[in-house]
Amino acid sequence: MPETAGPTAQPGSPSNPLPLPRDRKTLARYYRGERLRSPMGGFLEVLGVKEVEGGGGRVLLECSTSSLRYVLEIPKASRAERAQVKAALEGGRDPVCPRHGPQQRLVRSGKLWVCPLCGVPFASQR
Ligand SMILES: [Zn+2]
Repeated sequence: MPETAGPTAQPGSPSNPLPLPRDRKTLARYYRGERLRSPMGGFLEVLGVKEVEGGGGRVLLECSTSSLRYVLEIPKASRAERAQVKAALEGGRDPVCPRHGPQQRLVRSGKLWVCPLCGVPFASQR
């Protein structure tokens, strides 16, 4: 594959984080608020959460022992999750994250309601 000029960033460096496996277990731990174990040993500290185009989220993490950077891709909202949040908004209740549970409120980001921990928009408007 043709690479454009310039040195390729080291895998695991801040500009080229390593992808974590997108398995159910890893995601379930993250949604429960548990610290994730690093593939290098130690734990992963959350550095930040971003929205990505298309409705998913990206969590940037740093390994506490190796300082390598990892990224966890968060799947976009399902139809059922969107319906749940829409019902809350229409019922005048505070919208909460369907994955993180009732303690985690969604926040406004422009026209969207986003979970600050998932980076995922679960509803728009209102
Ligand atoms: Zn969430």
